Amino acid sequence: MSAESKLRQYYRKRDFKKTSEPKGKIKKTKSKQPIFVIQKHAASHLHYDFRLEIEGVLKSWAVPKGPSLDPKIKRLAIPTEDHPLEYAQFEGVIPQGEYGGGTVMIWDYGTFENIKKHNGKKISLSDSYDKGSIEVFLHGKKLVGAFALIKTRMDKKDWLLIKMRDDFAHATKNPIKSKTKSAKTDRTMLQITKEKS
Ligand code: MN
Repeated sequence: MSAESKLRQYYRKRDFKKTSEPKGKIKKTKSKQPIFVIQKHAASHLHYDFRLEIEGVLKSWAVPKGPSLDPKIKRLAIPTEDHPLEYAQFEGVIPQGEYGGGTVMIWDYGTFENIKKHNGKKISLSDSYDKGSIEVFLHGKKLVGAFALIKTRMDKKDWLLIKMRDDFAHATKNPIKSKTKSAKTDRTMLQITKEKS
């Protein structure tokens, strides 16, 4: 897919006269440290949008239950349209009636490292994405450690988000339940809803 066509679906879904979501554009230069963001999104169904910077855009998945620290737990991750990098800064309220209307919180953010290897050789993020097998080490405010995103079957669209085994894995800690405020502004969902931005 050409760089220009990546965000076409993002623009098509949104009326920027109505929503305060960023217009953004594709970043042409490579970041030294790619960024990630996890946005808690109270749309008709609450979910966590997991986004990784890959080739100038935020590749995105909607994770209904959010990430788990337990390597035994596989969380469904449904791919959604590429978002502009500027979207990582977005916290606020998407008007109802717009696609995905509802409050958006920056639940976690930070940088990540691509740790995917095959036969000892590093694999680029875009190749990992195309192959449906991504491994990243997150340096977030809440989440630290290695996570895998794996496409269940190449002929299916769903992926799984799984904590990889490392010192940061934990069978009982549940940051989704224990860390419910914005990683950026320390606000609750209700405060963001009231303040609207
Ligand atoms: Mn969403």
